[in-house]
Amino acid sequence: MTRPPRARAVLDSIPAYAPGRSAATGGVDASGAPVVEAVKLSSNEVAYPTDPAVVAAVASAAETLNRYPDTASAALVAELARKHGVDPAQIVATTGSVAALYHLLAAYCEPGDEVVYAWRSFEAYPIATLIPGATAVTVALDGDSRHDVDAMAAAVGDRTRIVLVCTPNNPTGPAVTADQLDRLVAAVPAHVVIVVDQAYGEFVTDPNTADGLALLARHRNIVVLRTLSKAWGLAGARLGYLVADAEVASAVRKVSLPFAVNTLAQVAALVSLADEDGMRARVALVVAERERVVPAVRALGFSVPDSQANFFWLPVGDDAVTLADHLDAGGVIARPFAGYGVRITVGLPEENDRVLAALATWSSLPGSSGPN
Ligand SMILES: *Cc1c(COP(=O)(O)O)cnc(C)c1O
Repeated sequence: MTRPPRARAVLDSIPAYAPGRSAATGGVDASGAPVVEAVKLSSNEVAYPTDPAVVAAVASAAETLNRYPDTASAALVAELARKHGVDPAQIVATTGSVAALYHLLAAYCEPGDEVVYAWRSFEAYPIATLIPGATAVTVALDGDSRHDVDAMAAAVGDRTRIVLVCTPNNPTGPAVTADQLDRLVAAVPAHVVIVVDQAYGEFVTDPNTADGLALLARHRNIVVLRTLSKAWGLAGARLGYLVADAEVASAVRKVSLPFAVNTLAQVAALVSLADEDGMRARVALVVAERERVVPAVRALGFSVPDSQANFFWLPVGDDAVTLADHLDAGGVIARPFAGYGVRITVGLPEENDRVLAALATWSSLPGSSGPN
């Protein structure tokens, strides 16, 4: 047999996106003992089940699945525009904000153009950069696992088309301050798109945090990414969006797949957005747990960067995989980044207690930053 047709060479360098592992489904182990279901704290979802009002609306909308969805998601976009105080022409709804990112890069990058972002940051950035043939220019986080915005500004060159800012940063947790983002925007030429990825924006409690939307009113090169996957609890519906200058939004719409955002996702999002108080209440519980758990983890001897999100970061370096295996044995599925650290989602109180119990019994390898 001859070999199948070859895909573009650039795909050889694209890492496959590694999703957080799923929880075990129960059952019994080899000795017949019941398997304690592991808690999934590897994908930064919220633990609360889907709101019954959303379930009912989706069930009812399912009766019209013979029809294509509204390709513009007009009702949803109108609601998001009202919420953010912008024109509907400035919003594009997509299948998760990752799709908005992919579309934006496809619309703005020619092969060889450069995309500047901090590292370590969101796993999707290198993939989204490589697909259109752009080149990643990564800038190391500072010693507190924060964006080094001055070094990022200095990394912008003639071929830079896009700068990606992840705030709060996944997987490390700190948010970019308002001053830092102001400095970056002032230092970067206006023809460079500055993406402010605020996937975890609802969990931020530090008042001195950057707000991309506030800058968009004055700078036409700002693009804000938001999602309903995290605080809004709709990760399974795949609904995100970008807010940008209307011309930028129009370019992104041109490369978007037609009818990508399906009817059920649109309905789920609209019904969820109507209950902002419910979202705020769930976020408050997560934040209260974050404020309980992070100091407790530090008291165990781990150094944990500030987290403004619904997860926290253990920068254990070469112990990352070992520590994740240890958590696994304690019934906790966390997210290791080999050679860097482990990210753990803040879950329900009893789930977080399981995390604390497992971390308390970890004996790190010699020379690591964890407790012995
Ligand atoms: C989870 C996450 C997103 C959201 O992804 P969706 O495609 O909207 O589910 C975007 N950016 C970052 C940094 C994230 O961690």
